[in-house]
Amino acid sequence: PATLGMLGGGQLGRFFVAAAHEMGYKVWVLDPDPHSPAGLIADRHLQAGYDDFAALDTLADACAAVTTEFENVPAETLDYLAKFIPVRPGASAVAVCQNRIAEKSFLRDNGLPHGPFAVIHSEADIAAAPASLYPAILKVARFGYDGKGQARVTNAAEALHAFHQFKNEACVLEQMLTLDYEVSVVLARDENGKVKCFPTVENQHTRGILDVSIAPARASGCLRDSAQEYAERIAERLGFIGTLAVEFFVSRGELFVNEMAPRPHNSGHHTIDACVSSQYEQQVRALCGLPLGDTTQHSASVMVNLLGELWYEGGEPHGRYREPDWSILHAVPGLKLHLYAKHHARHGRKMGHFTVVGSDAADVLAKALAARAAIGVRGD
Ligand code: ATP
Ligand code: MG
Ligand code: MG
Repeated sequence: PATLGMLGGGQLGRFFVAAAHEMGYKVWVLDPDPHSPAGLIADRHLQAGYDDFAALDTLADACAAVTTEFENVPAETLDYLAKFIPVRPGASAVAVCQNRIAEKSFLRDNGLPHGPFAVIHSEADIAAAPASLYPAILKVARFGYDGKGQARVTNAAEALHAFHQFKNEACVLEQMLTLDYEVSVVLARDENGKVKCFPTVENQHTRGILDVSIAPARASGCLRDSAQEYAERIAERLGFIGTLAVEFFVSRGELFVNEMAPRPHNSGHHTIDACVSSQYEQQVRALCGLPLGDTTQHSASVMVNLLGELWYEGGEPHGRYREPDWSILHAVPGLKLHLYAKHHARHGRKMGHFTVVGSDAADVLAKALAARAAIGVRGD
């Protein structure tokens, strides 16, 4: 069977490996972490950095094509591999999603809706930013995720302080929008430019981290459709091949693109249990030049993230370590538990998730929230 390459060994890569195996492929994973969740189930785990050219050569020799699950793989790594084998998505599309300045400029240049922002390279840029941006949120341009590298600021003095805390790294300063709610669209685009979207998902965050995803979103059909149209336009303009996720804010009834992820997304985990083809199967299909699968969602679903604090007594940072009691979840009809085999629990670390599926959306949501409360997840 053909062998596929995966850059990054997190849970998104792990689900890709599982999908590829079911479709008859082997997968080699490159990730420096010896305990990476995807590396543990891969046919081979190359334990090396993304700039280790000997390891990249080995990967290129063994694999028919390569993809990524980690958006911060250096664009140079993707460019280097692309000399030997197909790399999907390509370096230029990934580069836009890796840098909030490039991402915001891309949105602006392509007429896609986004909130007011300023690019911050220096103290002078903060001084020049309009007062109307505040209250605002300063975000480092690179390497932020799960709300890391972000500070909420109410005036220029606070923005300056936060900029110094981020070691004067390039940032964007975004106006804090009043959120009605948040949605995302996961889609796949193949090498011929054909696109298939999964139904628009509604996302609830707690402390900057995705907590609960409700699919389909409880928004109007019109709003769900326009989110899909914007996401399709983004995929086309990026020349994207693979699985792409677009996060949106809904503010005063209007859609604003928040950010893109050039890979499967946490808010698409439910596609494993609630759709005919999952977002990971789509990633395999797009990578291998196969026709895209059926994105029909056959069940209403709610996904709940299981974060590291669950592993501590009372959820306290210095609480006693304990394994959560999964039997509570196993007893819920329609609930599917997915654990990522991570060895160390940390606060805010994504350790697993569960999805509840069923025919009645309100019933599924009630069940998922009851299960979430029963295992002691805090909702603040
Ligand atoms: P991830 O990549 O894990 O989604 P991230 O670190 O890239 O997270 P963002 O998506 O930028 O973070 O922000 C995380 C959350 O913080 C958003 O989903 C939203 O709830 C809130 N947030 C971020 N920016 C704004 C904003 N400009 N206005 C209002 N809320 C915001
Ligand atoms: Mg992000
Ligand atoms: Mg985000």
